[in-house]
Amino acid sequence: IKGKYNKLFAYYDDRIRQRLLSERFITDSMQHALESGQFQVFYQPKYELADESIVGAEALVRWMHSEKGVMSPGEFIPLFERNGFITQLDYYVWETACRCIRTRMDQGSPLVPISVNVSRADIFSQGFVENLRELVGKYKIPIQSLHLEITETAYTEDPEQIIKVVEQLRRLGFVIEMDDFGSGYSSLNMLAEIPIDVLKLDMRFIKKEANNSSGRGILRFIISLAKWLNLPVIAEGVETKEQMEILRMMDCNYVQGYYFAKPMPEDEFEKLLDKTAISAMKNVMANHPVQ
Ligand code: C2E
Ligand code: MG
Ligand code: MG
Ligand code: MG
Repeated sequence: IKGKYNKLFAYYDDRIRQRLLSERFITDSMQHALESGQFQVFYQPKYELADESIVGAEALVRWMHSEKGVMSPGEFIPLFERNGFITQLDYYVWETACRCIRTRMDQGSPLVPISVNVSRADIFSQGFVENLRELVGKYKIPIQSLHLEITETAYTEDPEQIIKVVEQLRRLGFVIEMDDFGSGYSSLNMLAEIPIDVLKLDMRFIKKEANNSSGRGILRFIISLAKWLNLPVIAEGVETKEQMEILRMMDCNYVQGYYFAKPMPEDEFEKLLDKTAISAMKNVMANHPVQ
């Protein structure tokens, strides 16, 4: 028995060691990576379900690492949220998205709003609202063209504080999308109180829930609840035609997922926009304070 436990212990010991080493490695290289352009912003289009026109895109960061290859956000964002680096990285992503919007305006291309992810740590960081405001000013882009995605779970602790900041952002004209709705435990009551413009359904609802009848019931319920609250809905993680058809039947407004397009580098995104119909998220500004 003793030998067995020792082995188990050695196993976990090794896993923890590996993890600490890899975290140390990331921490040691993140600053240089940012300065040397190893972080790249990819764009994943969002589509209007009715006619499959593009209504926007989400900016998603990738780390093009010289030794590790392409690293996805799941491998470093949680660590950056803990060590504080997320505020620097996110500012870089937001600025890149603003520049992308500016480039299209300079070309006279139709405006496509881009949403960026905002972490909880960003919201509590010094000068957060002011920095965002300055960014859109610097690039002279309409404030409504930079959407902000805030996950449902960000509201879990001190929701009042977050709501105050979000209200401030909305008054300035930013469009707020609630990300990963359904992954946390916010009450329906809360949903009616949080000031948001768009609801992004967590992928789990589409992935497994849509496969059985009770899951479909939940999906249908959430979509009609959002409608009742006057909130446009984006379904994330749509991977199959069948899922798309279910969502269409349920009158879901917008979709984002591999079935339509994966996140892609800016040049590819530009090419896609050139050959795809573009339309506005019509109902998004319906209950937005700045019209
Ligand atoms: P998210 O904001 O919910 O972004 C959607 C994620 O779902 C992205 O993963 C996207 O690639 C993935 N996805 C989209 N369609 C499909 C699909 O059909 N099937 C599957 N299996 N996945 C799909 P990604 O890029 O790996 O990002 C993961 C998470 O990391 C994001 O979830 C977001 O929370 C965070 N993240 C990504 N970029 C940033 C960033 O620049 N800043 C911050 N703070 N967080 C970021
Ligand atoms: Mg997001
Ligand atoms: Mg999401
Ligand atoms: Mg997420």
